[in-house]
Amino acid sequence: MSALDRVEFHNVSVERALSALGRGGGSLHPGLVSYAQNAVRCYPFSAGPDGTRLVADRHFSVVREERGSQVRELYAWGRRYQSQDGRLREHRFLRFGRAGERERDPAQVALAAFTTACGDGGAWPTPWDTPFLTFRRAPAERVRVAEVGLADGSYQVLFDGSRAEAEAYYARYGRPRVEEILVGDVARPGAACVDCKLLTACSHPPRLPGLLGLTARPAPLRKVSASDLRYYQTCPAQAYLYSLRLPRVNEYGEAAHLGKAVHAWLEDLHRRPDGPPCRVSDLPLIDEDWAAGEWRLAEDAARAGARMLRQHLEICPLLFQETIGEVRVEPDLAFYDTAANAIVLAKPDLLYLDDGSWVWRETKTTQRTWSRDANWIGRYPQLALAIVLLARGALGGDPGGSRVELEILHPEDRDIVLLEPDDPETLALARRTLAELAEPWRADEVFAPRPGANCRTCPVSVWCPQRAKADEGVE
Ligand SMILES: [Zn+2]
Repeated sequence: MSALDRVEFHNVSVERALSALGRGGGSLHPGLVSYAQNAVRCYPFSAGPDGTRLVADRHFSVVREERGSQVRELYAWGRRYQSQDGRLREHRFLRFGRAGERERDPAQVALAAFTTACGDGGAWPTPWDTPFLTFRRAPAERVRVAEVGLADGSYQVLFDGSRAEAEAYYARYGRPRVEEILVGDVARPGAACVDCKLLTACSHPPRLPGLLGLTARPAPLRKVSASDLRYYQTCPAQAYLYSLRLPRVNEYGEAAHLGKAVHAWLEDLHRRPDGPPCRVSDLPLIDEDWAAGEWRLAEDAARAGARMLRQHLEICPLLFQETIGEVRVEPDLAFYDTAANAIVLAKPDLLYLDDGSWVWRETKTTQRTWSRDANWIGRYPQLALAIVLLARGALGGDPGGSRVELEILHPEDRDIVLLEPDDPETLALARRTLAELAEPWRADEVFAPRPGANCRTCPVSVWCPQRAKADEGVE
């Protein structure tokens, strides 16, 4: 954003802005510099979609509403433009990947359209919790809301209409959400807690000091999941660029793609109202290509996936209806490890309350043989996290019967490996596994690449300056 600001508001050339990014004072990760340079190079700046030239607008568009003693200010994050005569105003959302690769929430589009159409100009307030310094300006006649993809400069129009149409769009899609947010007191703890200025005053997410097994020391707040720790183990730079949510290329190989499809199919089945167990009539036929969510399988992969799903039928957790209480499918969980100063995120495949105790089910697919006695906790750190969370009673319920179930699906076979948090050896291994992964991650402030064979399949290597060296065989 600051490089774009320099070009648009300070008359700095793109080339100078790029080289300033490259210098970066050493404070920016080289992978982020590479991504940001590409983004600035691709960015469409003043070019409108229909050949019109636009002028960048440094001011926010702010609508101020008074409700009794409450004053609220509505505005949208992004970049703002207008035509030379000011009749057209445009709001651009920035996406890390390609424009339009995922649908943007209509409430966001509506809020941007409305504030762009009707808002006063406003400078960002300092400090942040004071009101905007606003000034009156003529409302726009026409409003456009667009999305720009920073990976390739792609551009997509999300709304284009008159001021009245923007107001109507907001009334339909935006206002209900704003009202919901203003009256709602339901907390949804998650990754966003890291950037929330109210975290220390909020009772969410639940505090679990020492969850990662680290001794307390001052450090900036970070978020982390078991997968992040696994990525870190592979390559610190990969973990860091993932955490920034930079676009990934060819993220999933064939086996992972198959696994995602099987997971998505089971997720849909387990989400059904009243949670009936999975039956064969719910599954794709063996000889058909099939898809679940965004995951499409064909030929051999479709057959293998359909067979894996059949193996699930005998071990579906919803078979034992008489003892099962609540079921939570892929819930987003967040905990605050105040010792490590980290928001720890988890997303179990399935949680279910069995006779009053929470059971954490993780499903893995494979086409290889396996040994029940393998070090599953070491192989899958999310199992380690699950065990430690259940041992601390972090989910509530009766901890006595809590357990982790690792469901293994193979086209011809299946297994359930039970991991019990009240088994001292299991718990010790889980704690050790987590601490050994988390310690170097927490201490790292540089996230240097670890170039090697892994670079060839690394989904963010396109942004990594060390990749070239790996390609040349330099370790
Ligand atoms: Zn099932």
